[in-house]
Amino acid sequence: MAARLIFLGAPGSGKGTQASRLAGRLSIPQISTGDMLREARANGTELGKRAAFYMDKGDLVPDDVVIGIIRERLQQDDCQHGFILDGFPRTLPQAQALDLMLTDMGLPLSHVIFIDVPDEEIIPRITGRRTCPNCGRSYHISFLPPKVPGRCDECGSDLVQRSDDTEDAVRIRLSKYREQTAPLVEFYENKGLLKRVHGVGDIEEIQKKILEIVA
Ligand code: AMP
Repeated sequence: MAARLIFLGAPGSGKGTQASRLAGRLSIPQISTGDMLREARANGTELGKRAAFYMDKGDLVPDDVVIGIIRERLQQDDCQHGFILDGFPRTLPQAQALDLMLTDMGLPLSHVIFIDVPDEEIIPRITGRRTCPNCGRSYHISFLPPKVPGRCDECGSDLVQRSDDTEDAVRIRLSKYREQTAPLVEFYENKGLLKRVHGVGDIEEIQKKILEIVA
């Protein structure tokens, strides 16, 4: 059966890493609104410029913008066989809009995977995060360092830090998460869709727990 999943969790919970691995295994698209917005930004589109204004401060991009992006993306053919939403929905209005969209399309969700990580883990995880602007591979200066500091193992490019991964922006992102996104845990629990996964420990072990859920 097609897996239609949401990955829910605080910034730095590892949801992007886990979503990407699972999407590869299941051969379904990983739909990350954060990646899509960063791409629009890099391409200098109007949408990208509008989003950058919010992203750099650690604020959420307005609901109508991200809902529009997701509506378009879910209509593409590759989503008919399943998908993983990573970083969407992040507010109650987004979750309600998604519900309506998926009902209209006849594509009900399979599960919502909530990756639960205690607060004290989050800040060092995010501020140490580095990515390769060329091939997209992710690293962490302490937990997953590249072989040569500052260089991608895969393609040798200089690694970069996301502009919103600084400590000030992270604090704002975490408070937005608590205010606006954390209530979605209860929203999906009430729908009987929520699966909670403890997100501390080995990446492979966490992946195994997720695979058991979607099997
Ligand atoms: P992420 O890569 O998922 O951490 O997203 C990076 C940033 O993009 C967030 O801090 C927001 O500014 C914006 N963003 C991504 N997804 C959403 C969303 N569903 N709703 C609002 N803003 C979003």
